[in-house]
Amino acid sequence: RVKEKWAVTRTKHPPTSLALQHFDSTYSVQLCQLWPSVRAALLSEKKYGALLNNFCHDAVVANLEAQGCRDFLSDTDTEAQPSSEQESEVAADEEASGDSTPKKSDIDGQQLPPLHLSPHIKCFVFPRGDITRFKPARPDMCGLLGYYLMDAASLLPCLALDVQEGHNVLDLCAAPGGKTLALLQTQAIGFLCLNDSSVSRTLRLRKVLNSYVPKPLLTDDKLRITSFDGTKWGEIERNTFDRVLVDVPCTTDRHSLMEDDNNIFSKIRTGERRKLPQLQLELLMAGIEAACPSGEILYSTCTLSQTQNQSVVEQAIYLARENHGIQLQVVDLRPLTHMCRKTFHFAPDLHLGEMVIPHLASNFGPIYMCKLRRLT
Ligand code: SAM
Repeated sequence: RVKEKWAVTRTKHPPTSLALQHFDSTYSVQLCQLWPSVRAALLSEKKYGALLNNFCHDAVVANLEAQGCRDFLSDTDTEAQPSSEQESEVAADEEASGDSTPKKSDIDGQQLPPLHLSPHIKCFVFPRGDITRFKPARPDMCGLLGYYLMDAASLLPCLALDVQEGHNVLDLCAAPGGKTLALLQTQAIGFLCLNDSSVSRTLRLRKVLNSYVPKPLLTDDKLRITSFDGTKWGEIERNTFDRVLVDVPCTTDRHSLMEDDNNIFSKIRTGERRKLPQLQLELLMAGIEAACPSGEILYSTCTLSQTQNQSVVEQAIYLARENHGIQLQVVDLRPLTHMCRKTFHFAPDLHLGEMVIPHLASNFGPIYMCKLRRLT
């Protein structure tokens, strides 16, 4: 009989199993009856979207459509918008109760501004329930690739950021650059600052940009790439940017369940994992300080964790006011989620922000996002 070898070569508790144990204990409480179906989706193959590269010269759209995909942004649900009672923004003024966190139920009676989506951002997906994989993108005659494969839900934070013509934009944790590419597709940005503390990931970001964006759009007068610790950004630049994307490191739930390599649930990374909410808070605070008054900040993660999502935003709203005298308003993203509800499943009744939850028929996410506007 051949003796089994795996016991000596495999660790007793692989990080993926530790992640599943952790998620089972926390998300079964947080998501209640939704957890079993979200869990099944998280453990299944994820779906991609193909972010169209407008800078590519090939007839990519016809090719993608011939394969049966559609641009989910031109197939949005514009009918039956939420009632004006629900469509509004929330002032983050301190309530008498001392609870400064705005609730969606507090937002009655105001009219939401219309939702502007850049007509240049296009992302193709296969229909619900169809798990066909995309072929790798091919370069055109200039060497630029036709599309970038990413979780289609990752596009929502970029759309929610609502970049306008000439805006000065900071992407604080930018590598490897999926969201940066989406922002560049708008062709509206005046100046773009890209930062990521990891030097190797910043190199990857540069490679991505070179594969998708023509060189004349990557010059120093249009774009700056740095590798600073984003938590220290306030020491460099304050009150500067019209838009700030704070796409923080997190437990990357899907990756943590599927890949033992580079897994934040490995025993040696326990300390790093426990410190994540503090790092996320510091990055969000730096993003808030970097934005100009009336500027907007988009916080996003790819975890379902309330501790890394809503709790971080709540603390940032409090600290911005108490320590920096900055008043923030939470921007209601329901017009966006309503428009995209045919493509994504959203968590119901989040009191702060919006979250795409994985579903077997539409296996995108998780993506959490919350948008803040500086009032002062
Ligand atoms: N926005 C990227 C995209 O769409 O491709 C993904 C960003 S990823 C979720 C988080 C990034 O934060 C990682 O690339 C990581 O290197 C970076 N990061 C971690 N700590 C940081 C810090 N203190 N300052 C800046 N970036 C940091």
